[in-house]
Amino acid sequence: MSRPCPCTSKRTFDACCEPYVTGKKLPATPEQLMRSRFTAYALRKPDYLIETTAEEKRGELDRAELARYCAAVSCISLKVIRTENGGPEDETGIVLFHASLQINGKRMLHREKSTFRKESGRWFYVDGETN
Ligand SMILES: [Zn+2]
Repeated sequence: MSRPCPCTSKRTFDACCEPYVTGKKLPATPEQLMRSRFTAYALRKPDYLIETTAEEKRGELDRAELARYCAAVSCISLKVIRTENGGPEDETGIVLFHASLQINGKRMLHREKSTFRKESGRWFYVDGETN
């Protein structure tokens, strides 16, 4: 079934984030991981958000809190502004993005510069700077 991907890539869900959020495939780039995490917020998949977070940061996450946040937020659109590194030879990568969200009926633009790290061939979200 080809519905549009929640990450607003204009691709279909099955050709974009679906293989990642269902665990069929690992994202090959930080941008793919970032997009699939946005999709996981949109589809309320807190476990995906936890398992794609760097191990040392996972302890800061509260699954119930994440689930509540996913339920409260509407993920309207995502725009990837810029990426740095994150290629096949890189161990780290940066993704700068703008996410248009609605929380409790209020629209907001979330701007973040996220850092990703590769471990044993798999990308993880480390943290993000917002402003
Ligand atoms: Zn997508």
